[in-house]
Parts: sequence; structure tokens; C-alpha cells
Amino acid sequence: MIAADVCVIGGGPAGAAAALTLARYTRHAVLLLEASGYAAFRVGETVSAGIVPLLSYLGAESVLAGAVSVPAYGTAGAWGGEQLIRRDFIWTGRGQGLHLDRNRFDAALAACLSRFGDAPRVGTLVRDLTWRDGRWVVDLDAPEGRTQLEARIVVDATGRPARIARRLNAERAVTDRLVGLVCHLDLPKEQGEQTTLVETVPEGWWYTATLPGGKAVAALMTDADLLRGLGIGAVGDFLTRMSATRHVAARLEGARPLGEPRAFPAESHVLHPPCGPGWIAAGDAACAFDPLASLGIGYALASGIQAARIADEWLRGEDGLARAYAADIARHAGVYSAQAREMYQAERRWPDAPFWRRRLG
Ligand SMILES: Cc1cc2nc3c(=O)[nH]c(=O)nc-3n(C[C@H](O)[C@H](O)[C@H](O)COP(=O)(O)OP(=O)(O)OC[C@H]3O[C@@H](n4cnc5c(N)ncnc54)[C@H](O)[C@@H]3O)c2cc1C
Repeated sequence: MIAADVCVIGGGPAGAAAALTLARYTRHAVLLLEASGYAAFRVGETVSAGIVPLLSYLGAESVLAGAVSVPAYGTAGAWGGEQLIRRDFIWTGRGQGLHLDRNRFDAALAACLSRFGDAPRVGTLVRDLTWRDGRWVVDLDAPEGRTQLEARIVVDATGRPARIARRLNAERAVTDRLVGLVCHLDLPKEQGEQTTLVETVPEGWWYTATLPGGKAVAALMTDADLLRGLGIGAVGDFLTRMSATRHVAARLEGARPLGEPRAFPAESHVLHPPCGPGWIAAGDAACAFDPLASLGIGYALASGIQAARIADEWLRGEDGLARAYAADIARHAGVYSAQAREMYQAERRWPDAPFWRRRLG
């Protein structure tokens, strides 16, 4: 049976950051398992310049080159009123942001692991795990068939569902039912407006951002139960809804959808506990934010690094960082939820619409 010191489950930004930290800075044997082949489109596009030092720590600055990212110069929002209010990053003192092609970014970041250790195992789905004789036995569906591996520590970086941690009886404290219905589009011409555009509507809010390769993303953010009631079956319904917006529709005029829209869960949650004997959750699995905050990818990288440090400490027979980790997550979640509440309370035009009533209460 294959054996590793640490098995990282999930090859998104959190899992890649955890595996890279261990491979680059320790001598522990680490395996990164990713269910997908990074082919189906991924969401979460806008990041601040704050991710650059994190990538450099991981030895992965090069992943931003080429067709992976385009500069993002700011945010424009019609939130709380019809008029667009612009906030350019240049005035925030944090430098320009980036819009990412998430498939390419996630695949390139995970691939960096080959520079420091074993290549990531893509197309490898973790089905289950059990604790046996002081080790985890992990059941996998790998390209070569059903198999098992052994590890002393597992990192759950499976994203919002936190599949592994929940299998180990951790619970998600979920605060809302937000979901994003997302479509990628081809832009008809070179897009000059490289900002994220956000616009509220009675049923939630829309966003659009330019992506590398002359593409754009458009998403309707609403609650899962409300989305069902909107009856958006196919891309035609999505475009009809989008055309009822003022600013998003104007920016995406003439854009051609690249496929059917897909729904992605986007609810906020905190995992309790975020780690336990022999396991640590990282990224969205540990704590997930409303996409409005554009915090998820940066947090995933930072918490992946933290999870790797905890694993390293445990393997050296020490303990201490894990307690600080739980406290750190609670602090992050507290700051974030105060900001999110303030943001949602700034939109008061539709107090009786269920989406806003839930957030104004
Ligand atoms: C609509 C929407 C818009 C967003 N916009 C932004 C934004 O603009 N900026 C921002 O910073 N964040 C944004 N986010 C959030 C951001 O996408 C996430 O915070 C980020 O992807 C979290 O990274 P992660 O590595 O924790 O999880 P994920 O990116 O979800 O990665 C989890 C990985 O685990 C793999 N996996 C799952 N189960 C298994 C298994 N059993 N075995 C093996 N592999 C498994 C999955 O295939 C996946 O690759 C947005 C989210 C949504 C839904």
C-alpha cells in the first residue's frame, strides 16, 4: 500500500498550498489527491495583490504568468442605488488585483508540487477513510482503479462541503443559503473595463468580471430556495434575467455564452472543530465566505499554509498551533460576518423581497 506522512485531499488553492508548504519546507512525504482533471469550469476569479507574497512563499509566483490572469483595476458597484460607484485599487494602496482563469490557476498551482515532491494525483477521488492502528487508511477511486493509501495525517481541502471533516463528525455552522448561478461568456471585443462589476436586484445580486482570453464571467447570486422559484432552466432564461439588469447587461452586450449556467453553493460557514486528532481542515472546508468579500482564494492559500505547519508540528511530536488555528478561524469569521452584515444592510430598496428581508433582519 502507498504510504505518506500527510495526505492532502482536494487540489484547489488550499490543498495545493498545504502540499507545497510541506514539500518545500519539510522532509515529510506528502501526497496531494484531486478528484477532477481541472476540466469543468471553476468559479472565484477576483483576487487582490495580497496573494502574490503567498505564492512566492510557495515557490509558485510563476503560476500567474501567461493566460492565467489579467489585471483587475477595481470594483464598480450599483449597490444601494442605481448609480455605479467605482473604487479603483490604485487608491487603496494595495496595488492592482487580478482576474484569474481558475481552471488554469488551480491546475498550475497544484502542478508546482512536482518541483518539490511527488506530482499531484489528479482524477483521484477519496471515497472514505478509517483510523486503524494509529494511521489513516484512505479509500480511493484512482485512474488505475480502486485502491488504498496510508497516512499519518490528512488535510481536508475538499472545499465548502468539507466532506472528510464531516465524515469525522465535524459540523458546519451555516449562516445562509447563498448560491451562484454562473455562466462564462465570450466577449465580442477587447474589454476595456477590467473591474469587477456588482449590481443588486430584488432577488439578490449579479457580478461580472473580465477573464483571460477575451472571456467574462457572469453570475446571479441568490438563495438556493429562491433560485428554484426563478425557473431558470437553461442559458436562454439566464440571459433573459441578465438583460433585466442595467449595468451588467450593458457591459456584456453582444457577449456569447460558452455553455449552460451552473449553480455553485456559496453559503458562509465555519467548521466546528476545524481540526481533530490526525486531521486538519483548510480553505473553504474550514471557513467559507460570501463571494462578495473576494476573500476565499487568499484565505484558502493562507489556511493551507497554516494547516501544513500544524501537520509538521504534530509529526515532530509538538502541539500548540492547532489551538491557535481554531482561534484564528473564529476571529476571521467574526470580522467577516460584521463586514458582510454592513454591506447587505446598505441595500434597502427591496426590504420585502425575501433575499433582502433575510439579510436586513
Ligand atoms: C460564485 C462564486 C464566486 C466566487 N468568487 C470569488 C472571488 O471573486 N474571489 C475569491 O477570492 N473567492 C471567490 N469565491 C470563493 C473561492 O472560489 C473559494 O473560496 C476557493 O475556491 C476555496 O478554495 P479551496 O481550495 O478551499 O476549495 P475549492 O476551490 O473548492 O477546491 C476543493 C477541491 O477539492 C476537490 N475535491 C473535493 N472532494 C474531493 C474528494 N473526495 N477527493 C479528492 N478531491 C476532492 C475538488 O475537486 C476541488 O478541486 C467564489 C465562490 C463562488 C461559489
